[in-house]
Amino acid sequence: MKRKLYGIVVAALYILFGVYFYHDPMILKNTSLTVEMGSHLDPYDNIQNIVFGTKKDVDIKGEVDLKKPGDYVITYVFKDKAKTVNVAVRDTQGPHLEVADKKFDLNTKIRPECFVTKVSDASEFEVSFDKKPDLDRVGEQKLKIVAKDIYGNSTEKDVVLNRIQDKKPPVFPKIDKLKVMQGTSEDISSQIKVKDDLDPEPKVKIDTSSLDIFTPGLYTITAKASDRSGNDKDQSLEVEVVPNPEYSEKVVYLTFDDGLSENTKEVLDILKKHKVKATFFVTGHDENHREYIKEAYDQGHAIGLHSYTHDYAKIYSSTDAYFADLDAVNDMVEEITGQRSDILRFPGGSSNRVSANYSKGIMSQLTDRVIKEGYQYFDWNVSSGDAEGNDVPKDRIIELSCTDAYDHVNLLFHDSSPKDSTVAALDTIIQYYKDKGYKFYPLTKDSYICHHSTVN
Ligand SMILES: [Zn+2]
Repeated sequence: MKRKLYGIVVAALYILFGVYFYHDPMILKNTSLTVEMGSHLDPYDNIQNIVFGTKKDVDIKGEVDLKKPGDYVITYVFKDKAKTVNVAVRDTQGPHLEVADKKFDLNTKIRPECFVTKVSDASEFEVSFDKKPDLDRVGEQKLKIVAKDIYGNSTEKDVVLNRIQDKKPPVFPKIDKLKVMQGTSEDISSQIKVKDDLDPEPKVKIDTSSLDIFTPGLYTITAKASDRSGNDKDQSLEVEVVPNPEYSEKVVYLTFDDGLSENTKEVLDILKKHKVKATFFVTGHDENHREYIKEAYDQGHAIGLHSYTHDYAKIYSSTDAYFADLDAVNDMVEEITGQRSDILRFPGGSSNRVSANYSKGIMSQLTDRVIKEGYQYFDWNVSSGDAEGNDVPKDRIIELSCTDAYDHVNLLFHDSSPKDSTVAALDTIIQYYKDKGYKFYPLTKDSYICHHSTVN
């Protein structure tokens, strides 16, 4: 009896082990998969059944890049069993394409993209017309937009193009009165935003011949708005030139070029003692004294741009080279003060004759372009003479600097390292202007403009 029972137990164990070892413990749904490119793939979804375990016990090896079509292999490992599955990533679908009907004037260059409001695909694609349309035809026409990916899958959508002969001029907004600051270099036309039904960028030109920007008062100017189809509209506009307080006062603008150096610190101390403000047109070539920019800025002095390199041959070789250098010095200023500067002084002033050696006519181009780019540049009407050499006597600097010839004095100094006599003369010069009743202001874009004539 006992022997019989023993025999049954052994037989049962054989069956159980047999199931365990010989029956497949991991059953997959597919041995190969095709997946749409850009879609989602969870390889665990391909597991049908696991004997004596769960899906989580399966280790899956191998990478499938769903952004790149190709043939990939992943391996499922469960206990000591491994199975491989081929995964084919393919792009079989056309791009997703949304379009809209459009109305354009005859001057609009029409490309298929003009009609597309949304388009996307897992692969690279191109948008085109199904056939070359007659884009010069006035009126409505039906067009077909095709988006085709690099695997040849395409999507087509119909649109209606309405070509219109634009006969309506732009419309002026309701403008009560334009206001500009006395002496401003601001482009007044930028304040006038006209609208056109078909030209997204209508132009405005103003005739300012009746306007004296330096004398406060009310003026009438004429503005002309034009669209690209040649429709014009004239409009009279009132412009108020608002008094600039700096113009009615006697002001001295103390300006320091070529810093920073240890002399900058001396200058700052003297300005602090006198409680007056000045302007520093800084350079970037001395990395050791940049903390004085922050100090000057924090004390309320103006930080203007002179040049990063102050290398005439480089900065005056082309307008692009000039602006690259200007951007570099402005980046430096912004990094230190947190604010970009919009005032500058050209190395050598706008009247320098050196720049013509590197690029003829460049100063006329630069003086125009800096204003267009939103800067104001300042020359000087009184020079301290400290650029005549490195040891200009203190008394000569005082003599040249002190004059009552102007109500607005833009006084040129240098605070580079050799200019010790400038520092020595400064106290007397400040006292001179104080006694004469001058105010000391840092320069801003609205300050009294002092421009030389360009000579190239
Ligand atoms: Zn300079």
